[in-house]
Amino acid sequence: MMIVIMKAQATMKEKSAVIAWAEDAEYKVHLSEASDHTVIGIVTGGHPANHEQVERMPGVERVVPVLKPYKIASREFKPGNTIFPVGNQTVGDKGLVIMAGPCSVESRSQIIETAHAVKEAGAHILRGGAFKPRTSPYSFQGLGEEGLKYMAEAREETGLPIITEVMEPALVPLVCEYADILQIGARNMQNYALLHAVGKSQHPVLLKRGMSSLIEEWLMCAEYILSHGNTRVMLCERGIRTFETATRNTFDINAIAVAKHLTHLPVIADPSHATGKWEYVAAAAKASVAAGADGLIIEVHPRPTEAMSDGIQSLKPEKFAKLVKEMRAVAQAVGRDIE
Ligand code: PEP
Ligand code: MN
Repeated sequence: MMIVIMKAQATMKEKSAVIAWAEDAEYKVHLSEASDHTVIGIVTGGHPANHEQVERMPGVERVVPVLKPYKIASREFKPGNTIFPVGNQTVGDKGLVIMAGPCSVESRSQIIETAHAVKEAGAHILRGGAFKPRTSPYSFQGLGEEGLKYMAEAREETGLPIITEVMEPALVPLVCEYADILQIGARNMQNYALLHAVGKSQHPVLLKRGMSSLIEEWLMCAEYILSHGNTRVMLCERGIRTFETATRNTFDINAIAVAKHLTHLPVIADPSHATGKWEYVAAAAKASVAAGADGLIIEVHPRPTEAMSDGIQSLKPEKFAKLVKEMRAVAQAVGRDIE
């Protein structure tokens, strides 16, 4: 890939000429408009491209080859942060986005009760799994479309946009009918058919890091989605496998800083799956805010002991409300905020 940085005063005609050159060569073009200039990303698909030829075209400031394996995801391609609206909230900006709700949608009353509680506590987006990726085939697999319907009802009642997981390409259209944000779970991070499908859908996506994945592999997966022109991608650090057994996973706080450095995509932290125990969720959540996360996704259940999945890592609404206040203080200390 090469990045063509156009001069600030480049005309539409000059930009179109560069795009036409790339399209003639059957290269893929990704446009990015910065405040003072246009950046044209040209994916040459491994073909040797004639940089000099582009550099001589009118209106072109300079041409930079992107050497990283991920291209559109890289900060080289887009130096400024990716910012986009989710519901009434904006992700990637100064304000942090708080997503909260149960691991699984269990019933209409459970999700509606939780939606009201997390909204009251300060959450901006409701989470809840209808299609659940369970380690055991004998565990509760989620309510499926019925669960999506209950999520939509909870959105109608509270005004909170909804995020929910999609596990297979064939179900992307159905989940898109209900969800404001598609979640790709850790177990499916490298499900390339699914990444292509959510990329094509043009729906906002939260891409969780695989539990044994390198940061680079995670960014390559984001690249799959971005390669379809879907620019609304969030990354989510949810803990990785290590030798430690005191917690469910080891929260890779470094990954938040690294991802923010290497990419322009918003980074969301999931302290619930990262720790696996409600007692540690608040500490990991506050650390994420300090580390520069653009938002959090936190499991909350009105009666964790009765939860059909992940009860031991779920916060009760009161604890969650207290945590939001604490996170707000940390956010303000690092020049951010939680509305
Ligand atoms: C979840 O969000 O409930 C979930 C299954 O998360 P992960 O894919 O990170 O394990
Ligand atoms: Mn869960």
